[in-house]
Order: sequence, then C-alpha cells, then structure tokens
Amino acid sequence: MRNKLVAANWKMNGDFSALAAWVAVMKESVPEEGGAQVVFIPPYPYLRAAVDALCRTQIGVGAQDVSAHVSGAFTGEVSAGMLLECGCKYVLVGHSERRSMWSESDEIVAAKFEAATKVGLIPILCVGECLEERELGLTEKVVVGQLNGVLDRVGPTIFGAGVVAYEPIWAIGTGLTATPQQAQEVHGVIRSRLAACDDGLSEKTQILYGGSVKAGNATELFSMPDIDGGLVGGASLDAGEFAKIANAAL
Ligand code: PEP
Repeated sequence: MRNKLVAANWKMNGDFSALAAWVAVMKESVPEEGGAQVVFIPPYPYLRAAVDALCRTQIGVGAQDVSAHVSGAFTGEVSAGMLLECGCKYVLVGHSERRSMWSESDEIVAAKFEAATKVGLIPILCVGECLEERELGLTEKVVVGQLNGVLDRVGPTIFGAGVVAYEPIWAIGTGLTATPQQAQEVHGVIRSRLAACDDGLSEKTQILYGGSVKAGNATELFSMPDIDGGLVGGASLDAGEFAKIANAAL
C-alpha cells in the first residue's frame, strides 16, 4: 500500500511573512501523524526558514530545482548536496516550466534526478503533455517518452528512489483540471510502463497528479486507484485551501 503525498509548489511567490503565516495554519490543520506526507516547496531563499519552522512537524521541505553538477563554476546553480545540507528532503525535477522556459531536455532532467538521489534527496519527476499533443492523441507517447527519458538513463534502482508527478501542461495554472478519469488513465499508463520494467517498482512508486488541484476536486482525484496524491501550485499559496487538499489525501 502506497502512502499519499501532497506537495505545495509555491513557484516564484511568497515572502518571509507569508511563509510564517502558512506554517502557522498548516501546523494547526494537518495531523501530526496518520495523514498524507506533506511537502512544502518554497523558493530557494526561504528553504532554511521553512526547515526551521517545520522542524517538529511531519511536513517535509523540498526545492523547486537542482543542479545536475556537484560543485564548481556554475553561477546561479544550487547543488543537491547544498539542498540536503539545508534540510531538504525532496526536489522537483523536469517541471514543465523548466522544460519549456529553460529548455531542459530529458538528458538534463535525468542528470538532475540522478544528482538528487546520489545525496539521498527524493526527486519528484514531472511529466505531462501540452494541449496540442493531447488533441493529436499523443498524450501516452509524450508522457511515456519523458518517463523513459529518465528511466532508461538512470535505471530502475535509482528511479525507484523517486516520485512521479503527472502534470498535463494544459491544466497547470489554467483552472482546467483533468477529470479524475482522464488523470487515472494516464496514471495507469505510467504504472504499466513501470511494471514492464519491474513489478516492485510499479507497486511502490508514488504517482501524483498536478494541474489546478483545489479543495473542491482533490477528494475525487485522490480516490482514483493510481493517484497517490497531488502536486499543487496556485492553490497551495492559500494555506487554508492547501490544508483541505492535504487532508483530502487520507
Ligand atoms: C504546478 O505548477 O506544478 C501546478 C500543478 O500548478 P497549479 O496547481 O497552479 O496548476
């Protein structure tokens, strides 16, 4: 039985006072044990404050990106070791915004995934199709292609240290949500691909759904057999709303 996981991706939003207010609400609203694993993913400058503020809770902290390199002349990059030292447990890799705005290829995403696992961070690999690809019937091809882009490079053992997030690009930040059936269909495809590699990998890998998850649609989405929780952007900025989403994943 896989545990549910719900992650709050703040993207490039927030400040120290918003963080303190968010943490206060979450501490009151999320059960100390027995609930879903909750992960808070603020921008880099707030990671350490988040780790300190959440240290006596079950809420973990993650980063939005990581360098594929260990150290050296890579201005602006942050290594997996630095994130770990900061107290992070998770890191997003291959978010669609990074793939599209920073031209991150599957090769780069795989290298970041591997760099994270090497130090013991849990990478959350984001995959998903754009609207045009869905309309052309290419969803499965695109999603499995992105999955293979990492799985074939790092192998099943390293891949098994991570989490997958299916995030249809047409649903990210648009208010459009995949129906639970649409999401389940793609999650099923992802799980079958993992099963073709190794049954154990398929059974243990958490597959999250992301794309305009809100308190109003979370329960239905999270009740689907292959949806193990959510990656939440916009709605995670409102702590009350996000707490309801986290509590829907029981
Ligand atoms: C995201 O950016 O990962 C995301 C799912 O955003 P939103 O919830 O705003 O669609």
